[in-house]
Amino acid sequence: MYEGSCLCGSVKYRVGETIAEIECCHCLTCRKAHASAFSMGVTIARESFTLISGADLLKEIESSAAKFRVFCGNCGSHLYAYRTAAPSTLRLRPACLDTDLSGFSIKHTYCENRLSL
Ligand SMILES: [Zn+2]
Ligand SMILES: [Zn+2]
Repeated sequence: MYEGSCLCGSVKYRVGETIAEIECCHCLTCRKAHASAFSMGVTIARESFTLISGADLLKEIESSAAKFRVFCGNCGSHLYAYRTAAPSTLRLRPACLDTDLSGFSIKHTYCENRLSL
């Protein structure tokens, strides 16, 4: 069980499944969406995601065909994404978990775009 929140604290949520591995995606779309060198993502079951507060602030953008990115409309934190073709899963953005992330294993994807930082 994990809890997460956006930067301004208005949106809070709970994740009721164990996360084993976090993927760091270096693709150009993630770089733009997160305004960062890469994004972190983990696929979870939609049913294990519970919104605690801030439902009225959630905004969505269809960043590519049938893929929606969900963020806090007040502070802009990107919280999760989903594809209409996969309604039973969410792509959580674990950087917003209020949890020590250092224990998770990390996998890098789209490394051809990876910056040498
Ligand atoms: Zn916020
Ligand atoms: Zn990506």
